[in-house]
Amino acid sequence: MSGAILVLSGPSGAGKSTIINAASDQIGEYYFSISTTTREPRAGELDGRDYFFVSREVFEEDIKAGNFLEHAQVHGNYYGTSLKPVREALEANKLVIFDIDVQGHRLVRAKLNDITTSVFITPPTLSELEKRLRLRCTDDEEVIWKRLENAKSEILALEEYDYAIVNDEVEKAAAEFTIIAKAARLKHSREVEEAFIRHWLEN
Ligand code: ADP
Ligand code: 5GP
Repeated sequence: MSGAILVLSGPSGAGKSTIINAASDQIGEYYFSISTTTREPRAGELDGRDYFFVSREVFEEDIKAGNFLEHAQVHGNYYGTSLKPVREALEANKLVIFDIDVQGHRLVRAKLNDITTSVFITPPTLSELEKRLRLRCTDDEEVIWKRLENAKSEILALEEYDYAIVNDEVEKAAAEFTIIAKAARLKHSREVEEAFIRHWLEN
């Protein structure tokens, strides 16, 4: 496999989708990994575009069948990354972008550390996160509370990431993300490096 991986994590409402959208024209060709989840679609979300929305039964069958590269429970729902499309994108030499939580990041690191770059995205403060979740108007009070509680523990994983972006202004955060994505693309797997060294020595 010759592609590379960029993991994007951060509290729900941090601005991950906003930043990917703002930077997407600048970072060149990439494959965005569409996760599978058991949570309900939000207003405006589309099955197959934002997530693959499935029941808990279907998700658990996929786990048993070994279909996930990684999966985790977040805010009481399952979320997972399907292995097959990611493998195909990596084989096609693409930069694969994941929007996954801190548990997912650890699992990807354990399996594909040599080709992985990671970035943690956060609003400047917890109260700013709360404000944005409320302004987004997609979640009820209980869901917002769960997301804020989860955010307090997720921020503690900040030091596990290669980079952090404080999403104060979208334009500035998108510019920083573009630099990181371009560098992420230049990571090579151990196999690719070993093949290069063999070629270099023989020629
Ligand atoms: P995530 O994908 O991390 O859950 P979103 O991209 O959906 O987060 O952003 C959450 C909300 O915050 C959205 O309503 C978005 O428009 C808003 N938002 C994102 N970045 C900023 C920013 N820098 N300043 C103010 N609001 C922002
Ligand atoms: P949301 O419900 O706001 O879309 O996502 C909630 C959290 O789940 C976010 O932190 C997001 O990064 C994470 N997430 C989304 N997809 C996946 C996935 O496939 N695997 C893991 N581990 N986390 C995911």
